[in-house]
Amino acid sequence: MPELPEVETVRRGLAPAMQGAVIARAQINRPDLRWPFPDRMADRLTGARVLALRRRSKYILADLDSGESLLIHLGMSGRMLISGDPLGQFVHDHPAAEKHDHVVLDMDNGARITFNDPRRFGAMDLLTTATADQHKLLASIGPEPLGNDFNEPYLIAAFQGRNTPVKSALLDQKIVAGLGNIYVCETLYRAGISPTRKAGQIAAARVGSLVPIIRQVLSEAISAGGSSLKDFRHADGELGYFQHSFDVYDREGQPCRTQGCTSGIIRIVQSGRSTFYCPTCQR
Ligand SMILES: [Zn+2]
Repeated sequence: MPELPEVETVRRGLAPAMQGAVIARAQINRPDLRWPFPDRMADRLTGARVLALRRRSKYILADLDSGESLLIHLGMSGRMLISGDPLGQFVHDHPAAEKHDHVVLDMDNGARITFNDPRRFGAMDLLTTATADQHKLLASIGPEPLGNDFNEPYLIAAFQGRNTPVKSALLDQKIVAGLGNIYVCETLYRAGISPTRKAGQIAAARVGSLVPIIRQVLSEAISAGGSSLKDFRHADGELGYFQHSFDVYDREGQPCRTQGCTSGIIRIVQSGRSTFYCPTCQR
């Protein structure tokens, strides 16, 4: 499942093809993905200019000059593909089965944007831009981890009195937006904090130290995603995974990478999901 850095990579890949361009034609090939598409979706998209392409948590929002925003969620297996090549900068590849092309947007600059999703856990919706933050998917999401509202005093206050493991607290989208399993495991390894430790029982200074580490882990992954875009001229966010090497994630039984540590990475299951960590370095 794409996490924040992968979604940001997709956004950056789409921006040159979509930002500033008009949707000349919208083709909707089925009535729904995870949820039904909004009424008259093709009509409402056709002729609209994309003013900005932004990201909130794991959602991409295309703000249109009609006053509406197109919300895009990749779900488990959704991909945004770019084809057409008016400026010599778009990708020609279409590596996915075309029967899963659910939404096709032809931009007036010649780019074709295709939403392809075999498992259909993705979503698209149209919402009023001015009140986008109140959309049911966005209303209760916490601050962006790369934004100014996410800072040390904020996280220390958010963890106070919390009886859940720190891993669950960081996965809680109400506390911080867009963090998923992979980057939480990586963050806790760098912070030297055991994923099983109760959030409310970690010293304030250690909680505070998570903030710059989270930013760093995400920024590095976004940079790796950016290089994958550059190398492959591709808007497929999953590329970010291939380009990136993780210190603990999916490394069960392999040696810890901390110098002088002789432990192996272990895997435990927390709330039904795998956690990878070093039992020696993380306390
Ligand atoms: Zn270790």
